[in-house]
Amino acid sequence: MAVRELATFAALPNESKGRAYNEGQSNYRNEFQRDRDRIIHSSAFRRLEYKTQVFVNHEGDMFRTRLTHSIEVAQIGRTIARALDVNEDLTEAICLAHDLGHTPFGHAGQDALNNCMKDFGGFEHNLQSLRIVDLLEERYADFPGLNLTYETREGILKHCSKKNALGLGELGQRFIKKNKPSLEAQIANIADEIAYNNHDIDDGLRANLLNIDSLRESKFVESNYREVVKKWKDLNERKIRHEIVRRMIDYIVSDLIETSRDLIGKYKPASVDSIRECSKSLIKMSQTTEKEHNNLKKILRKNLYQHEQVNLMSQQAAETVKYLFNIYMEQPIFLTDELHMKITKDSQIKDEQRKARIIADYIAGMTDRFALSEYKRISENK
Ligand code: MG
Repeated sequence: MAVRELATFAALPNESKGRAYNEGQSNYRNEFQRDRDRIIHSSAFRRLEYKTQVFVNHEGDMFRTRLTHSIEVAQIGRTIARALDVNEDLTEAICLAHDLGHTPFGHAGQDALNNCMKDFGGFEHNLQSLRIVDLLEERYADFPGLNLTYETREGILKHCSKKNALGLGELGQRFIKKNKPSLEAQIANIADEIAYNNHDIDDGLRANLLNIDSLRESKFVESNYREVVKKWKDLNERKIRHEIVRRMIDYIVSDLIETSRDLIGKYKPASVDSIRECSKSLIKMSQTTEKEHNNLKKILRKNLYQHEQVNLMSQQAAETVKYLFNIYMEQPIFLTDELHMKITKDSQIKDEQRKARIIADYIAGMTDRFALSEYKRISENK
């Protein structure tokens, strides 16, 4: 079978900017495949199974979790990468790692933890993903973290404040210079949006928090709905829902591939570095599709993310995170023995900031159900 050649502007594993710690090469896998495999074997990746995407994990087994979301993002990302002749392995690695830093309870958990950390440097899930792969995973004898390549780390760090970017060396430069990352990273970023927009519709309808009529405000949903019910007269609700969602994903992904292909053709980037020097993203949907995609986001925000049932869950989640943070800060005895020792040692030098960061790392790593069981254990034993 002929080996497909990648485009000149694809990120190539043998031209990688490398890893923080030098390692020998693998006989059977290239550097980006190794990154992907390290991510899959990490503890943070496994814990995504029990972390909320929008719906709290215990609300039902049918909803997306951060793990299934990440797998869907990788599927969409790989399709786009393959169609544009860029690196599929790198795209997959970035997609699988993109949500590693998420706290329990979705965005409500992240906002609550950020609030708790406001006097200690804040908390940002995207930066936390990088912190996990660079520092927190403990899997290798020779180095902390997963020692991933520059290219995978570049893709994981989707956004970053200027202040934080200053502390990140070469990786932070693009946020200061306002440049773009590799196409593989740009693809992973947009694959995330396509995945959650569409699966939140699916989950929202299944949970009865959304109804199809409120979604028909979106031209996308409306036109696909009409097509589906016209073609199949007696389709049940579940099949209608799935037909609409799969058609929308296919339409958006195809539009994105074609528009990006045209843009790349116009710009003619010679290498991955010329992509990085570009101030514009070359991975884009057509204007009409982008507008509709954003409209869908707006409709979801109004009808799903701000639904009173989701709000109630968010409030409870925020209270759980806040409670845990405060109690661990005041009474570190409730932490694990290992962390308690670490903190007791540190508090002798009165380093509150370091103590808060250790606690934030611990809470961020929790699954929804572990955070809830910790809340129960502590509140009953206090
Ligand atoms: Mg995501």
